[in-house]
Amino acid sequence: MSETIFSKIMRREIPADIVYEDDDMIAFRDIAPQAPVHVLFVPKRDYATLNDVPADASEVIGKLAVAAASYAKREGFDQSGYRIVMNCNGDAGQTVFQIHLHLLAGAPLGRFGT
Ligand code: 5GP
Repeated sequence: MSETIFSKIMRREIPADIVYEDDDMIAFRDIAPQAPVHVLFVPKRDYATLNDVPADASEVIGKLAVAAASYAKREGFDQSGYRIVMNCNGDAGQTVFQIHLHLLAGAPLGRFGT
């Protein structure tokens, strides 16, 4: 596993508010939330960006999305709504190069874009 702030969180070397973990992923609250609920779902497989996920490992992404949807449902956001986002490289604003899915919820979210 390459060294990122998220791998340190995974190994409990730095603190985070962990809300979910299983054999495949960990989820914790974003340190700089962009919505009332902002949770990051990070796979335990080592991919820097979405570009690096091979076709035969696509279940990694599917599991993140399903876990995010389950979390949203548990927290009562399945009907009010939520957003999942994965940033890839510079123009998308990716800052941590270990793939992760953002879950944003808890208020009406602005339209995304430029
Ligand atoms: P990206 O911009 O790469 O898609 O998202 C990285 C996210 O990681 C940002 O929303 C940022 O606030 C969050 N983040 C960066 N460092 C830390 C940290 O040390 N702890 C937590 N919980 N989140 C972090």
